[in-house]
Amino acid sequence: MARNRGVAVVTGASSGIGAATARALADAGYDVVLGARRADLLADVAQQCGGRAIPLDVTDDASVAAFAAQVERCDLLVNNAGGALGTDSVADADLDDWRRMHEVNVLGTLRVTKALLPKLVASGDGQVVTIGSIAAREPYQGGAGYNAAKHAVAAMTRVLRLELLGQPVRVCEIDPGMVHTDFSLVRFKGDQERADAVYAGVEPLLAEDVADAVAWVATRPSRVNIDQLLMLARDQTSAQVVHRRAQ
Ligand code: NAP
Repeated sequence: MARNRGVAVVTGASSGIGAATARALADAGYDVVLGARRADLLADVAQQCGGRAIPLDVTDDASVAAFAAQVERCDLLVNNAGGALGTDSVADADLDDWRRMHEVNVLGTLRVTKALLPKLVASGDGQVVTIGSIAAREPYQGGAGYNAAKHAVAAMTRVLRLELLGQPVRVCEIDPGMVHTDFSLVRFKGDQERADAVYAGVEPLLAEDVADAVAWVATRPSRVNIDQLLMLARDQTSAQVVHRRAQ
């Protein structure tokens, strides 16, 4: 029986990395609170990990306030809700896509962190783990909007770490490369063929691999702060350098 580690809040827990993280943290001894928009999927994941599902749209002030009001205690916040939309060049940028990427990744992370920070400090041993991306470290062609958003998330996360020095709250950013989730399906707006092509001939990371890293970071002794963690598949050495096997 894992020890009781307190309450972990996971945003974007209805699928992919967030759902796997909720399960991994429950296994590690956390009581998990899950937030996302798709209530049916969220309820399924909550049931799998004995957690509590609360509707959450991180782009909506009122939704974040209502969510945070239902979280009495918070020892760990995993800012995972996010994603990419499109691969347009700067010249052809779709401003709505850029706005939405900024809203969910940057302002969404800010809203939830701001709302739960007092509870993280009050816990006496809080942690924030934010899921960034290799896109936060490396600009790539077709990535401008997502690069800009994840670079902003990384900057905010590092500033938060500076601001919290001396407070009992650790701050970490985990930056995965290619992970096989619905990420590409969302990016290509439901075009399954384009999404499948991203992973063709490659063995990408699984959501469970990133979840494993979140659980590892979260369960280090309180004196240890893992500031940043870049994790890539063996088949990937940078954003667009990928080894593909013949199929
Ligand atoms: P995913 O399966 O599409 O999951 C995205 C999650 O974010 C879903 O649970 C979605 O839930 C939630 N979400 C989206 N908009 C939201 C909103 N407005 N409010 C609340 N939740 C919202 O993709 P994933 O790969 O697991 O993505 C998780 C994180 O990993 C993202 O931040 C992504 O940028 C990052 N990442 C992914 C990869 C990759 O290759 N897969 C690589 C690096 C980083 P609802 O739709 O139900 O709200």
